[in-house]
Amino acid sequence: MSAQASDSNFIAFNISSQDKFQQNLNVQSLSEVSRIGKIWDKHRANTDKVLHYYAKADENSFQQYAWRMRMCSELLKFQLVPDESEGILKLKLLDARFCRVRHCPVCQWRRSLMWKARAYKILPQVVTDYPKHRWLFVTLTVKNCQIEELRENLDSMNKAFKRFTELKVWTGKGWVKSIEVTKGRDGVSAHPHLHILVMVPPSYFSHAKWIALWQQCLRINYQPIIHTSAIAKHHNPSLLIPEILKYQVKESDLVGDREWFLELTRQLHKSRAIAVGGILRQYMRELEEKNQDLIDESEETDEVDGESLYFRWERKLQRFNIE
Ligand SMILES: [Zn+2]
Repeated sequence: MSAQASDSNFIAFNISSQDKFQQNLNVQSLSEVSRIGKIWDKHRANTDKVLHYYAKADENSFQQYAWRMRMCSELLKFQLVPDESEGILKLKLLDARFCRVRHCPVCQWRRSLMWKARAYKILPQVVTDYPKHRWLFVTLTVKNCQIEELRENLDSMNKAFKRFTELKVWTGKGWVKSIEVTKGRDGVSAHPHLHILVMVPPSYFSHAKWIALWQQCLRINYQPIIHTSAIAKHHNPSLLIPEILKYQVKESDLVGDREWFLELTRQLHKSRAIAVGGILRQYMRELEEKNQDLIDESEETDEVDGESLYFRWERKLQRFNIE
């Protein structure tokens, strides 16, 4: 288990026993207990913002999203778990109900944590199994488009990437592809791009060749912008996980502009945010079958005796308070 994977569920107290914690229970809110509390507050407050965008939209489906999001993670159940190695108590998230709406800020955050936890689990094994391979981090872009043309653009990028992986010169043995959409600098357009973490044999092609091949696969008449970087030999590709498995849409872009956001929802409906290819698919398959509830299962503590603590979202105060 990595520190990153555990961050999502564990909150450390700088206290040495549960009794002391009880004495200190004049705390009112989750954010007083830990910085993770502030993170929960921030995402949950953004869920409130986004649900208002949906609630006022005409589409029935959007109103249903709003209804589901209202109840998302309203009550968080944590368990106090002693961490003997550090001599402190930690909070482990035991239970919460998530709405699973695609662009719900809380659920997007939890999904990203879940993907990261999966990747931290499998990559060290892949590196052990393929010690001679190198890892590249590549960002493939196209020109910005109107938000109304986002789906069409993403379709052609995904098709182009598929063509890319079918070329004879393609040597990628396994890859993770994630789609990110940011708002253009003009404040109205959309900037779709693909982040690829790809595992290649020791000899792999140059930046210039990536550009030429991406242009060829997109079937466009301009040179697209691409960023490539190779992970230093003997460095673990896990270093790039936060970059590749971050959110599909930045939270500030979700809450910044109602019309842009509603159109984004229409354009991304049923599209796939993250895809795994090549040999990494086999490594990932088993993990994908479990771990669907957005509560990290990487730490199975079984039946630990310990007090449960509940924190409830207080909409007016915009924070999680102790029940
Ligand atoms: Zn949610």
